[in-house]
Amino acid sequence: MSERTLAIIKPDAVNKHVIGDIVSRYEKAGLKPVAMRLMQMGKPVAEGFYAVHKARPFFDSLCTFMSSGPSVVLVLQGENAIKKNRELMGATDPAKAEKGTIRAAHGTNIEYNAVHGSDSPETAKFEITYFFPGMDIIG
Ligand code: ADP
Ligand code: MG
Repeated sequence: MSERTLAIIKPDAVNKHVIGDIVSRYEKAGLKPVAMRLMQMGKPVAEGFYAVHKARPFFDSLCTFMSSGPSVVLVLQGENAIKKNRELMGATDPAKAEKGTIRAAHGTNIEYNAVHGSDSPETAKFEITYFFPGMDIIG
């Protein structure tokens, strides 16, 4: 089933000049960018995006990091896009991410881990609407 997911190339990865490498990995895996923004999100925007993690000890640090510089926010479309992107990304902690994944290649630590990807159809819907209001969800 063709579906959409939200991906973010986080500020650490933008700083490392690997936007092109990461977008290329999406394209080679059959995940087609159908919307894309280069933006520096304000801290309240990061806080709204990560609201599900509000109670976690790393929440404030995470939102400071996510608003510390530009990110690339994308909508990716393809067969099983949500699961496929999570596989491409690798585990949250780059030290535990499988070889060949984006986080293994470009992540620094469990917080500065290069990319975000929606984890379910419900979060994909919320996240796509959050950054691309008015975009219809398919699948
Ligand atoms: P994922 O991005 O793999 O879905 P989570 O949703 O659990 O992971 O966490 C969201 C983001 O919060 C992670 O990508 C990472 O940047 C940060 N994070 C997660 N766990 C920790 C932690 N233990 N310490 C610091 N930052 C964390
Ligand atoms: Mg998550």
